[in-house]
Amino acid sequence: MGSIKLDNVSKSFGEASVIPSLDLDITSGEFVVFVGPSGCGKSTLLRLIAGLEDVSGGRIIIDGEDVTENAPAARGLAMVFQSYALYPHMSVRNNIAFPLKMAGMDKAEIARKVNEAARVLNLTDYLERKPRQLSGGQRQRVAIGRAIVRQPLAFLFDEPLSNLDAALRVNMRLEISELHQQLKTTMIYVTHDQVEAMTMADKIVVLNKGNIEQVGSPLELYRSPRNLFVAGFIGSPRMNFITGQTAAHYGAHTIGVRPEHIDVSLGQGTWSGRVTIAEHLGSDTFVHVNVDGIGSVGARVSGDFAVSHGDRVSLTPQEGRTHLFNSEGLRIQVLPSMMEKFQQA
Ligand code: ADP
Ligand code: MG
Repeated sequence: MGSIKLDNVSKSFGEASVIPSLDLDITSGEFVVFVGPSGCGKSTLLRLIAGLEDVSGGRIIIDGEDVTENAPAARGLAMVFQSYALYPHMSVRNNIAFPLKMAGMDKAEIARKVNEAARVLNLTDYLERKPRQLSGGQRQRVAIGRAIVRQPLAFLFDEPLSNLDAALRVNMRLEISELHQQLKTTMIYVTHDQVEAMTMADKIVVLNKGNIEQVGSPLELYRSPRNLFVAGFIGSPRMNFITGQTAAHYGAHTIGVRPEHIDVSLGQGTWSGRVTIAEHLGSDTFVHVNVDGIGSVGARVSGDFAVSHGDRVSLTPQEGRTHLFNSEGLRIQVLPSMMEKFQQA
């Protein structure tokens, strides 16, 4: 239960087309992340699924049933927002119980469900507190608890961690992933943060201007990005893109190579240049190298590698890790034997 299908869904606000036309299949129990830059239509798409916005065209199908015309409450979905929207005067217990009370559920049954949700979310000791007596992460868990007790067919999260500080975000990311493993309920999670997408998703949907650029598992997108947009969006630090003479040499309009797929040495290599900046993260160091005839290229080396501003280094893209793109920005599939030919050309 909890499969969701979008069939030719479109959305315009007045003249402005925010989602031109979109098809998507979400399997029951999947953790799907919608990721893309701010303003690309992620929230709009989620709100269309929730029924908080009407579609301009197309159909939304949940578990085989066309729900396009159904009100939000009739869709069996639960939404968790970035702003927790808790009732400040109510205890945690009553905040979580609220949707069940509204539905007229039996008191004992409500208590059982609230206690169970609190257990799953580690909120048992906080049930009698007011929201203001909680940390940001705890408040977010209360908001999730309120969604859990409704036993929805799917959870819809809209950037739920954006208000939290970096350390807490990492924590909550793990908690939500664990929650998904326990509940095995379909989750759709919206974020602009590709790290959240990579670490949490079974399936990532990369959105750009209301269009799907690619759908795939985190490693599929990382290893085989369909085009320049996905290649540049997935992976941190970002993939290097090289155009012009060097790329033409490889038989491509643009070549792309990730910083972690470039070997750096003080000896001979494919490219040579001078280090402009070395960012020391401890575990590894990110070097920006001004390569002769190419320009700035980023490479990642082990934190033990001694390198600093002004050093002359060689860079060598690792075999089989170079991505080639044509003039339309689409990735070209290249066989290793072709690659050799390109390099000799
Ligand atoms: P995201 O969540 O990816 O940042 P949104 O879905 O919020 O993007 O917005 C996508 C586009 O739709 C933006 O250009 C935004 O200004 C526009 N938009 C969203 N909601 C409305 C609305 N109610 N009326 C008009 N334009 C809207
Ligand atoms: Mg949004």
